[in-house]
Amino acid sequence: MNNRVLPLMDARRAAPMPALGKIVGVGIGVDQRGRQMRDLRISITDRCNFRCTYCMPKTVFGRDYPFLPRDELLSFEEIARVARIFVANGVNKIRLTGGEPLLRRNIEHLVEMLAAIPGLELTLTTNGSLLARKARSLRDAGLQRVTVSLDALDDLTFRKMNDVDFPVAQVLEGIAAAADVGLAPLKVNMVVKRSTNDHAILPMARYFRAANASPGHIVRFIEYMDVGSSNGWKLDEVVPSAEVVQLISAELPLIAVDPNYPGEVAERWRYRDGGGEIGVISSVTQAFCASCTRARLSTDGSLYTCLFAQRGHDLRSLLRSGQSDEAVSASLAALWSARNDNYSEQRTAETSALKKVEMSYIGG
Ligand code: SAM
Ligand code: SF4
Ligand code: SF4
Repeated sequence: MNNRVLPLMDARRAAPMPALGKIVGVGIGVDQRGRQMRDLRISITDRCNFRCTYCMPKTVFGRDYPFLPRDELLSFEEIARVARIFVANGVNKIRLTGGEPLLRRNIEHLVEMLAAIPGLELTLTTNGSLLARKARSLRDAGLQRVTVSLDALDDLTFRKMNDVDFPVAQVLEGIAAAADVGLAPLKVNMVVKRSTNDHAILPMARYFRAANASPGHIVRFIEYMDVGSSNGWKLDEVVPSAEVVQLISAELPLIAVDPNYPGEVAERWRYRDGGGEIGVISSVTQAFCASCTRARLSTDGSLYTCLFAQRGHDLRSLLRSGQSDEAVSASLAALWSARNDNYSEQRTAETSALKKVEMSYIGG
């Protein structure tokens, strides 16, 4: 266990692990700020074939970087068990992420196991590099939707940002393949960094509008965030979402749209002419902590209650110590009821400089 991970409970009083039957939740209540637990993000690998400069810069994630050994990763069976426990306790949406989730071998098998859980919305975020090859098998395994990250349409900018010289065309092929097999509505995530890819905002908006890309994909413009401690984040590189909306609306008029559900992270805008919609995610300029219902599970089975946390909680040891599902649920309930995170509401230069968990461990 690394020293930034806290035990979830005393594992010395372990009972034998029961067979996976129907799991009965303990009825997890609200946290210290009145928020329920509704979404779970699961990072299934800490590895990635890209080195996006804002996420896994080569200077830190170089050739000698010590990625996790296999036995430290949660197995598919462990992930499926955790998922069932979370769903029994109120989670209704799970997103697989990473690192690059499509690098995890036999991911389709995991998707199949998770898709069998009733009442669960199952989705995945990917850099799209392997999507053209895998869209069909993921869909067949039961994946419902996919979000593809793409930071520019011009090759020069995109290759520079992924820093492994990966071409835009292959990601676009992945997006087309996902749309073809019905992984829809498809969302495209673009992290906007001033003076790096802000010139790409309008081309992205134009390209993915319904008028051009039938049936149109929802581009979500994400404010560049101070996640982890590796990306050298600076506030003046953040492009506020209000500026993005203003820029697009000047050419393609936009109207604000109500959220799909309370606590939706992306603020929705639709084109006045019926050309579909966009979203903006404003973690820096308009914190949405008040409605944050997310828990995050790292590749090595630590549970984080905030994207910017400095510590996780050791769920893996609990799972591997033979605790019953009810005991794990009770630990989760205790953890959630003590949760008081609101990092984005109190971000300062000092908090930005703290040693926080890396994005590739807990996945966006
Ligand atoms: N590799 C996959 C991908 O890129 O889609 C999944 C993992 S990635 C960590 C998840 C999301 O986090 C991506 O959309 C990525 O653009 C976003 N992200 C990573 N670092 C970020 C940062 N510093 N600020 C804002 N978003 C970031
Ligand atoms: Fe990899 Fe995704 Fe991070 Fe880029 S954003 S380095 S694709 S994990
Ligand atoms: Fe949730 Fe933490 Fe982000 Fe606030 S800063 S919205 S609590 S993940």
